[in-house]
Amino acid sequence: MTKRAKSIENLIRELNKLPGIGRKTAQRLAYYIIDLDKVEVKTLAESIVAAKENVKRCKICDNLTDSDICEICSNNKRDESLICVVEYPKDVEAMERANCYKGLYHVLHGVISPIRGLNADDISLRKLLQRLSTNKVEEVIIATGPNVDGETTAIYISNILSKLGVKVSRIAYGLPVGGDLEYYDELTISTAMENRTVMGEK
Ligand SMILES: [Zn+2]
Repeated sequence: MTKRAKSIENLIRELNKLPGIGRKTAQRLAYYIIDLDKVEVKTLAESIVAAKENVKRCKICDNLTDSDICEICSNNKRDESLICVVEYPKDVEAMERANCYKGLYHVLHGVISPIRGLNADDISLRKLLQRLSTNKVEEVIIATGPNVDGETTAIYISNILSKLGVKVSRIAYGLPVGGDLEYYDELTISTAMENRTVMGEK
């Protein structure tokens, strides 16, 4: 076996740690990067560092942003009486692509999953409750995924919010069950939003 230069080996190892990047792809990317000119490599490396340094959680909704308050929270055309609760920032993007919702969001950054040992302390729930105590929120729409963890999370949040007298609804997933919001097309998402059902009613 030919000995590979240590720097190349290091680069391959780091790339290999990324999700969806197997050893072979990591090798291909490493050699591609080495073939780039110096300026291009520098731009690539700097954009990774800058993204990590500049991106933070919005002080209101916990979505990822470059500023203290994200673009959606600081847009006064958005309906402040609605909060749509999603699992991850990519779900906000999916919802915005569907262009069917004009309220605000709250990003949990996870789900409650007893099987995986994740409980309510592992998601951004406290901040959501704080928002409800200070803002004029009329409805919280839960848009966690249509799978076991998403459902568990939705029921948990709904139970808490119902006790606080907040109207809680769940978006209605029509067809595919078991997927993630980000994989649905715009029509599925907007239909799910339109057909949302109220939770916690006896
Ligand atoms: Zn925000």
